[in-house]
Amino acid sequence: MRRRANYEAVPVDTHKGEQHLPAYEAINANAKCPALVDADVTIFSRASAAADGRRLWAMGLCCARSDGLSQDLRVRWSPSVHKAEFAIEPIYYVMAWACHRRCKHCYEDRFRPYLRKELAGVVEEAQRNFPRIIDNFPRRMSYVDPAEGPGQHSEKIGRIVLSGGESLLDAVRETVTYPVIERLQQRYANEGGVKIVVQTTGDLLTDSIVDELLQRGVYMISVASVDDFHVGLEGPDKQQAFVDKLSAMFDRHDMRRSGLSATTCNWHEEEGPLYGF
Ligand code: SF4
Repeated sequence: MRRRANYEAVPVDTHKGEQHLPAYEAINANAKCPALVDADVTIFSRASAAADGRRLWAMGLCCARSDGLSQDLRVRWSPSVHKAEFAIEPIYYVMAWACHRRCKHCYEDRFRPYLRKELAGVVEEAQRNFPRIIDNFPRRMSYVDPAEGPGQHSEKIGRIVLSGGESLLDAVRETVTYPVIERLQQRYANEGGVKIVVQTTGDLLTDSIVDELLQRGVYMISVASVDDFHVGLEGPDKQQAFVDKLSAMFDRHDMRRSGLSATTCNWHEEEGPLYGF
């Protein structure tokens, strides 16, 4: 059974710069498309829950938990989603803006190094916001996979991808990232569980940090951005050396390399703990 959503499409011509018009920036202050407005709730691209507990990151929502009404929809949005009646797989949660890098190609200007008072402010914002953000996550982080076919739907555990900036920075790790992981584990302990993925540049990883993440039940450590755009990783030799060094570290902790690839959709069903690049 399908339901057709009632909505009004409002074209925004980004070639003409209409995303910068005050009326659009009132909806998405990041001046990025698209944005969805549903009653008093807005979902928009390239903005973070870190800024406002009422908003969730729109990118990465790939499959809404369905009650049989709308499995063909990539994302089902309704006020009931906001009330956490439906699970979403995955949720990509940017916890704090702080990053140790300042990459030219970064999609978000607020991901950058912060010092002293500024850093304290960014961390304090993330600490203040994460309890209410997590409290507004779906009641269950499980989903039904439409690919299994009619009548064969089993409930699968979805992921929450924790990201920054760099969420393993000293100033952020103990104050935000670890408490967020612990709160998520607690929240889903009696609701079918959750797979927590920590996304990182990998620059700051040490054996003890890997240990601390695994002790908190992290399902996967995902190392992003091993590419020419990142200072110090230009060229295949440097990138391979970086991957080899981190792989050896993960192997010391009995983690398995994920079979993640752009052409598979069930890689997150692998048994953890995993690492990936
Ligand atoms: S490491 Fe990633 S988040 Fe940080 S500045 Fe570079 S692109 Fe942005």
